Amino acid sequence: MSTKTFSLIDEHATVALGSALAQCCSEQTTIYLHGDLGAGKTTFSRGFIRALGHNGNVKSPTYTLVEPYQLDQWQVYHFDLYRLADPEELEFMGIRDYFSADAICLVEWPEKGQGLLPQADLDLVLRYQGEQRIAEFTANSEYGSTLLSKLELC
Ligand code: ADP
Ligand code: MG
Repeated sequence: MSTKTFSLIDEHATVALGSALAQCCSEQTTIYLHGDLGAGKTTFSRGFIRALGHNGNVKSPTYTLVEPYQLDQWQVYHFDLYRLADPEELEFMGIRDYFSADAICLVEWPEKGQGLLPQADLDLVLRYQGEQRIAEFTANSEYGSTLLSKLELC
């Protein structure tokens, strides 16, 4: 199992990390985003989704649970499960279909959907370090390890 850690001195660095990881993805990918409120999960997702060709806003889909982005090369689903009251809601929304072939899934608050979500290729934990952030990736699949080995932040 491989890990990789980055120091993110400001918001731009968090965006850049999301962007860099997006550019490494070459197949169906599931990424879990962990961290307290305000740690940078949505900021990271914004960098990721914009790097794949989205020009507009990226907001946490707190009330809708998922925001789809149909992009040039990829279908991306951005989840925020913070307000998920009952994991069964995920069954009702047909959660399995989202993790089907050729989609990239970014999941904020995956803990809330425990047991109903497929395993992630990568876990990203974002932590506060003073005003800055630390990003710690753990790979859970062979593909996840490959992604991490390709991931460099300039
Ligand atoms: P989350 O989705 O984890 O709740 P958000 O991405 O919505 O967090 O908010 C993160 C906040 O922290 C934003 O105000 C953003 O500008 C700021 N931020 C993001 N990355 C960094 C960083 N590396 N250093 C300092 N502030 C950051
Ligand atoms: Mg968020």
